[in-house]
Amino acid sequence: MHRVVVVGGGFGGLQAVLKLRRAPVAVTLVDRRNFHLFQPLTYQVATGALSPGEIAYPLRAIFKRQQNVHVLMAEVSGFDLAARELHLRPVAGVPAPPSIAYDTLIVAGGSKYSYFGHDNWREHAAEVKSLESALVVRSRLLSAFEAAEVETDPEQRAAWLTFVVVGAGPTGVEMAGQIAELARDTVHREFRSIDTRTSRILLVEAADHVLTTFPPSLSARAARSLERIGVTVLTQRTVTGIDAEGVTIDAGGKTERIVSHNVIWAAGVTASSLASRLGELTGAELDRAGRVTVEPDLTLPGHPEVFALGDMIRLHDAALPGVAPVAMQQGRYAATVVRNRLRSRETPPFRYRDKGNLATIGRAAAVAEVKGLRLHGFLAWITWLVVHLYYLVGFQNRLVVIIRWTFSFLTHGRSARLITVDPAPPAS
Ligand SMILES: Cc1cc2nc3c(=O)[nH]c(=O)nc-3n(C[C@H](O)[C@H](O)[C@H](O)COP(=O)(O)OP(=O)(O)OC[C@H]3O[C@@H](n4cnc5c(N)ncnc54)[C@H](O)[C@@H]3O)c2cc1C
Repeated sequence: MHRVVVVGGGFGGLQAVLKLRRAPVAVTLVDRRNFHLFQPLTYQVATGALSPGEIAYPLRAIFKRQQNVHVLMAEVSGFDLAARELHLRPVAGVPAPPSIAYDTLIVAGGSKYSYFGHDNWREHAAEVKSLESALVVRSRLLSAFEAAEVETDPEQRAAWLTFVVVGAGPTGVEMAGQIAELARDTVHREFRSIDTRTSRILLVEAADHVLTTFPPSLSARAARSLERIGVTVLTQRTVTGIDAEGVTIDAGGKTERIVSHNVIWAAGVTASSLASRLGELTGAELDRAGRVTVEPDLTLPGHPEVFALGDMIRLHDAALPGVAPVAMQQGRYAATVVRNRLRSRETPPFRYRDKGNLATIGRAAAVAEVKGLRLHGFLAWITWLVVHLYYLVGFQNRLVVIIRWTFSFLTHGRSARLITVDPAPPAS
């Protein structure tokens, strides 16, 4: 049986494996996590709107009926392309074989947040890409209100109630909107010494507008919606420093300082380190975001048996966004090529079908561009809800999330406001 090894059970890898359902192949799916994570909703975990189990689904459960799939929890540490082997190392104390052989390899290792060479900022500015970091952010946000409640020094109290989100792409916009709702709508009656509605939520962006991948009219609407719910949008500001006491910003040559104990990072991403390893081994170019450049059929130069896809790659002639639909279409495409090859059929080059762009801002507020149609407000928000529910993995998760969202909409509540990890808040 032809052995296909898929690295990564994220959006791209999952679709590749699903599409190989009826193919005469033996698939091994390797991931360092035992679950598929629906990253577009991690910020809702970070703000207590959803619980982790509602946006993640065990990989074994997804493939329990797909008999040609083996799931292997292990971290991929390297490749031997000549021997057609993958090197593995154990994770979470679970033993893993040192290597695994393949006939076809599909690598979909995704990306991670990049702190633009300032890795020391990470300690003070958590991000929401993984479930683990979303839980750290949740604990930090909620701890900030607790700290402000007992703080007697007005300046320190203000620092606890100042929230800075760096990067005004969809994640930054969504995060800022959710924090504003949390402070103004959800918790304001629960504290006795502080009025959480006085919280400052600042969204800092280097470009001159938010949501730079959206048409200017929608980006302007999003900025207005953010201001309406209490977010201060600070564009044309470059972050030059983040420490335990706040953020330093360059505003056209002028240095500004924001005193805050709560900074969330939602700026640039860089490809998984698997991309640079594949680049080194094949001579494929890497771009500035560390993405490896692949051929039009998503294979690595000189290695038609190795596919790479999703957030970690760049196509030669197309600048595709780092979004889930790209990874999903590429995952399905790679599987189609494998199936066609087994039937000695050709496959035309990969072509992305852009279905649109969505970002939510808060209650009944979103912007959407779907097939050239520009939507905002309630209609865009409903579109956002339907699309996210549709793509969420697992019927039970869909049902629970729809119930939670309905409850939250009606009651302004958030049921998962739990401080579960030591957020190690900066000393004040
Ligand atoms: C906070 C946030 C919000 C987002 N919101 C949206 C949105 O609203 N709409 C949208 O379309 N896109 C959104 N995106 C982008 C979208 O999530 C990504 O484009 C998509 O996940 C890319 O899919 P992928 O398969 O390339 O990687 P991923 O989905 O990230 O999957 C990578 C997988 O590889 C595994 N892995 C990585 N390295 C190794 C290794 N060495 N060994 C073993 N396993 C490994 C990881 O555990 C993971 O399961 C968002 C991203 C983030 C971070």
